[in-house]
Amino acid sequence: MPDAAAEPARCSFCGKPATEVDKLVAGPGMYICNECVALSASIIDESLNRPAVPRVPVWESLTDEEMLSHIPRVAAHITQAETDLRSWVRELRRRGVTWARIGEALGITRQSAWERFSGEE
Ligand SMILES: [Zn+2]
Repeated sequence: MPDAAAEPARCSFCGKPATEVDKLVAGPGMYICNECVALSASIIDESLNRPAVPRVPVWESLTDEEMLSHIPRVAAHITQAETDLRSWVRELRRRGVTWARIGEALGITRQSAWERFSGEE
């Protein structure tokens, strides 16, 4: 598995790296590229202007090979989100926020929060 720190930031929606898009906008624990923003805007426009039409799941149109080639991107999102989450927790700890409060926010116990994140400190 590649080192997460060496991986370029990727769009959390399409998986493209920052180097392949014009702009990547960072949100809390995720990114979206200009192309996905444009696509999202067109989907929203469409849904506001037309009666709701059931959407065909994107998987229907993909071959096994296409799905297999996509899953490493999905896995990379997890790594990226985990890295971002750790940096948020690190900042909270730097501010003196307790493991109990961090755990409560994440819906896990103080002990679980400590076990999951304290290795970074
Ligand atoms: Zn994208």
